[in-house]
Amino acid sequence: MSLPEGAELEPDRATLEGWLGQLATLGFDAVEQTATAPAVGTLGAAGNAIAATLSRAIGEAPIEGGLATLVPILRRAAEASLNTIGPGYLAYVPGGGLPTAALAEFISTLLNRYTGLAAAAPALCRLEADVLAWLAAEFGLPETARGLLTSGGSMANLTAIVTARHDRLGEGGAVHRAMIYTSDQAHHSIAKAVRTAGIPLANVRRVATDARLRLDPGALQAAIEADRGAGALPMLVVTAAGTTNTGAVDPLDAIADICAETGLWHHCDAAYGGAFVLCDEGRRRLRGISRADSITFDPHKGMFLPYGTGCLLVRDGASLRAAFDIEAPYLQDFDALDRAGEPPSPTEYGPELSRDPRGLRLWLPLQLHGAGAFRRALTEKLALASRLHRGLLELAEGGVPLEIVDVPQLSAVAWRFTRLPGEPREAHDRRNAAWLARINARARVHLSSTSLPLQPGPGGAAAGAAFTLRACVLSFRTHAPHIEACLEDIAASAST
Ligand SMILES: *Cc1c(COP(=O)(O)O)cnc(C)c1O
Repeated sequence: MSLPEGAELEPDRATLEGWLGQLATLGFDAVEQTATAPAVGTLGAAGNAIAATLSRAIGEAPIEGGLATLVPILRRAAEASLNTIGPGYLAYVPGGGLPTAALAEFISTLLNRYTGLAAAAPALCRLEADVLAWLAAEFGLPETARGLLTSGGSMANLTAIVTARHDRLGEGGAVHRAMIYTSDQAHHSIAKAVRTAGIPLANVRRVATDARLRLDPGALQAAIEADRGAGALPMLVVTAAGTTNTGAVDPLDAIADICAETGLWHHCDAAYGGAFVLCDEGRRRLRGISRADSITFDPHKGMFLPYGTGCLLVRDGASLRAAFDIEAPYLQDFDALDRAGEPPSPTEYGPELSRDPRGLRLWLPLQLHGAGAFRRALTEKLALASRLHRGLLELAEGGVPLEIVDVPQLSAVAWRFTRLPGEPREAHDRRNAAWLARINARARVHLSSTSLPLQPGPGGAAAGAAFTLRACVLSFRTHAPHIEACLEDIAASAST
């Protein structure tokens, strides 16, 4: 019996279950092997060569061999990458990717309900709203707060800046005079968001940081006053609660005071550090975050979710809605429903209309593991970063000529070889880059680097920036033995 035309897009249940089984084996094998797999896969030219061998033309007919042909391609493709799910992944900002979130993703996309408008799926939108309300309360925001799940921190920052602009300047708005203040350690997504929001990049003031790389409130106040005096429109301060470079937390309380006095919007970019409000120690370190007008935080970092899950929380939910809620005639059918008791519609609180149903990705892991599991994991990450810092201090005391940038303010640690007397900057940078390469070549851990200002020389002379190694402990799979391995490899690689 031949299938009706087009029906081949709906394989029967037995076929689908068979395919699911093969893909589950692939995925669970990868998770199981990650404990012993090299901390980094094949990258660069060799990775590109693998990519070239795996590339297949899209044919008119199903690929020969079906899924059995494709599974090895996927397996090999995953090898040509950073091992971001591994316990040794301490580069950039890890997270890991909870398997329970992958299960949530599977069921969300299979059910494929429409969650842009709550009227189309009130219960699924309620589950998402419950997660957002719980998060807002964890951050200490009032009940007027509303949240939005985004694809990541960059989109959350953009949504926040558009909201602040709309709230402070209205529709027309003197965007060319609107000034934005952030530190020289701000994430580059802030500049991207400013430009995308139609505000000139030149209007971003890079306020100086203190010796611990935190925005200096005195310099902020002076910059706002100077701009006001010159006829500009100070509008927004963007603080960091956990910079990407070193995890520095800006003085949130002092800056909230300045924003309250001057009437500026305070957006806190806590994409990396925000999740630490879930544990007691972290909440202490993020004191003052509850006073921000808006907060970006990335569940795909500190809540260990797969990439594609960011979050924006806005103290006055009405201002978020005012920035994004626009009527459309083709959506009028929903107005015929009795909408009493309806949860918030994501599309009224952000730029997207159709979107992947993101809520279950948080809801299912939170329900299955309980919030306590997240709190304990985050407490552990802070302790592991302290252990790493202590280990580096011991190495320095043992004679390795290294300098540590700061006591960890969250879970990132940055350090480098001390510059030798008279050593050219390039040579110093090369020695540090080679150290990083030797550590990573051992493939038990994978670290990354950044460039950070050196302490000012005698008389406060600017000393330039230096290549700096960094480790960020944030994968839920990273535990004490991995940090010991990291310290061993740092020590063993310290001599050339
Ligand atoms: C990661 C990060 C971002 C960007 O978030 P994405 O999810 O990668 O878009 C913004 N700010 C800070 C401080 C970050 O660490």
